[in-house]
Amino acid sequence: MASVAFIGLGNMGGPMAGNLLLAGHEVVVFDLQPEALQRLREQGAAVAGSAAEAARERDYVISMLPAGRHVAGLYLGDDGLLAQLDARTTVLDCSTIDAATAREVGEFAAASGVGFMDSPVSGGVAAAAAGTLAFMCGGDAATFERAQRILPDMGKNIFHAGPAGAGQVAKGCNNMLLAIHMIGSCEALEMGARNGLDPRVLSEIMLASSGRNWSLEVYNPYPGVMESAPASNDYQPGFMVDLMVKDLGLAMEIAEHSGVDNALGKLAQALYQAHSEAGNGQRDFSSILERLRQ
Ligand code: NAD
Repeated sequence: MASVAFIGLGNMGGPMAGNLLLAGHEVVVFDLQPEALQRLREQGAAVAGSAAEAARERDYVISMLPAGRHVAGLYLGDDGLLAQLDARTTVLDCSTIDAATAREVGEFAAASGVGFMDSPVSGGVAAAAAGTLAFMCGGDAATFERAQRILPDMGKNIFHAGPAGAGQVAKGCNNMLLAIHMIGSCEALEMGARNGLDPRVLSEIMLASSGRNWSLEVYNPYPGVMESAPASNDYQPGFMVDLMVKDLGLAMEIAEHSGVDNALGKLAQALYQAHSEAGNGQRDFSSILERLRQ
């Protein structure tokens, strides 16, 4: 059993902290929202009055916050958490943030003698609840090794992507590819349907052929093809369009920083941005199919 501080108990952090409790860890939580704290208290967590109080003398500090500025605000500076921790504590930031901030926090942690990894996740709220997230970790080998004590209680695939920031780069690469193959799958299905093909049959053909991809395999965007997919449930998320827009923005920063000419990534970002602005921000990202059907 490890002692864990968990900071940020929203849609993702709440169920992740719940799984640590179920696995028998001692969990101390902090969030700015009293309701989020109450939910975890009812599941057996201890509630702290501040992030610093939660983090004091823990084996692990985990954060799951909205964006880079929240993560920088929590960890950096003279009154940030990293200045108050020592080598006893391993820090895992699971938020999806810009790679530059993740590297900066990683460098600050190294200078403070604290093990840190950016550990963003893939999988969404359902995977957070089921404990089946994929973790993409950026940090040194010793920190990655120490994290094995708790990450398997929240996820099933845990990857060491490289040094600090590499987890966020891996997440950016993955989600840019996800956006591209989702849009590509929508275009292929719509083109087939307009030419008289049954989208179910076409999906089966492409799944057995070289067009096979994750969107077709487990998340078919065409209504009625796959009962469990958001497309068959009026595009209830799932993974919201606005979160895809956020992740594509982070991927564009990575591409720009490294001089990659990601024409398809840029196009995917523009299409998702327009889809969001048309009032679809809270719908599932596979609803991008409806743009083609208009
Ligand atoms: P959320 O908005 O539901 O939760 C964020 C929580 O952080 C809130 O409860 C908020 O009160 C808390 N918070 C903000 N600043 C804080 C601070 N300084 N101290 C303590 N608590 C603070 O967001 P979410 O959906 O849980 O997403 C969290 C992260 O996970 C984001 O970076 C998101 O991009 C990423 N992510 C989300 C999904 C998803 O499907 N929701 C999937 C993968 C990754």
